[in-house]
Amino acid sequence: MKMWQHTGLIGPMSGPASQIPMSHDCLFCKIARHEIPARIVHEDDEFLAFHDINPAAPVHLLLIPKHHVASLADIGPADGDWLVRMLRLAPEIAFANGCNPMPAGGFRLVANTGAEGGQEIDHLHFHILGGERPWSNRAAPAA
Ligand code: AMP
Ligand code: ZN
Repeated sequence: MKMWQHTGLIGPMSGPASQIPMSHDCLFCKIARHEIPARIVHEDDEFLAFHDINPAAPVHLLLIPKHHVASLADIGPADGDWLVRMLRLAPEIAFANGCNPMPAGGFRLVANTGAEGGQEIDHLHFHILGGERPWSNRAAPAA
């Protein structure tokens, strides 16, 4: 069994995302503040990217804004500039960390949003998934 072939789904494991109410208690805020260790692959003033602790593909990274935003459902008109910077960073980080070049390679960007969207951590994050197929079913849903 490969390291990324664990059982379970990318989604809630221990209840709804709303169980983490404040950024003070937010796991990804703590990682952004370096209070909890992570295998960081990119850091700048605004964003952090690190390896998912339970990888579902040969490459499985998480890209987060350093400031607390609960989910894509909380994005407003004032968030356009940094959100575009975050989107543009995703392919840069993907191809610098093992995702194979286009067009044969590529990557998948996933933003689980809300409980029914499968969001477990209540801090906006993009899953960057890539590498040679097959992937775990967790990373390769039918839709
Ligand atoms: P989501 O279900 O979209 O909220 O995804 C949360 C992801 O965070 C899951 O894929 C977890 O494996 C991952 N995760 C949870 N805790 C950590 C951690 N301490 N370091 C890195 N990844 C984590
Ligand atoms: Zn947070």
